[in-house]
Amino acid sequence: MQIANNLQTIKSQLPSNVTLVAVSKTKPVADLMEAYEAGQRIFGENKIQEMTEKWEEMPKDIQWHMIGHVQTNKVKYMAEYVTLVHGVDSLKLLKEINKQAKKHNRVVDVLLQMHIAEEETKFGLDDDELDEILNQVQNDKFQNIKIIGLMGMATFTENQNQIKKEFLHLKSIFDKLNTENLQLNTLSMGMSGDYKLAINCGSTMVRIGSSIFGGRNYAK
Ligand SMILES: *Cc1c(COP(=O)(O)O)cnc(C)c1O
Repeated sequence: MQIANNLQTIKSQLPSNVTLVAVSKTKPVADLMEAYEAGQRIFGENKIQEMTEKWEEMPKDIQWHMIGHVQTNKVKYMAEYVTLVHGVDSLKLLKEINKQAKKHNRVVDVLLQMHIAEEETKFGLDDDELDEILNQVQNDKFQNIKIIGLMGMATFTENQNQIKKEFLHLKSIFDKLNTENLQLNTLSMGMSGDYKLAINCGSTMVRIGSSIFGGRNYAK
């Protein structure tokens, strides 16, 4: 019952306009099913193979979100079912998602991942790369993808001011794009450690793993 309880606690804290993605990476299907039975229908995974195995095994009214870095050659394995790809940070990847989605006659929603953290290691676009992609999208009019928003990850730090600054930066880019009538509705930011701050900074989608399912054991 722990997972159901955790879910309920978190949901009671979320404003109605904020969507909860239950990040279930590394967790067994039994744990996901407990969340499912408690009403959760949106799950986030960061590996395509693991997500596909869970998709095959689990009820078909689940929405699967790919939240991790995506290798272009693996897009084909999720194109049939994935609901939202959070981490799109290149035109090449966008084109591949469009191509694979077309084969299944689908339109796949995507978020462009912005680099907002100080660390070099985090993936994501800078302002120029974002402009370049958006220009290209306007020209090429990809029929089988829809850009519905932005995603970002803050620096891994205890410094709340730093995290806040980065979230507000992402929010400002989001707002700016919306004034250029792009009509984005999703701002994916916030994880277990910082989702309350993210919501205060304008997040509309939080990706929460360990606070729902407990800590992850990568050694297994
Ligand atoms: C693992 C992961 C999360 C969830 O992290 P928690 O700290 O366990 O809530 C959120 N977003 C991304 C991109 C992740 O890889």
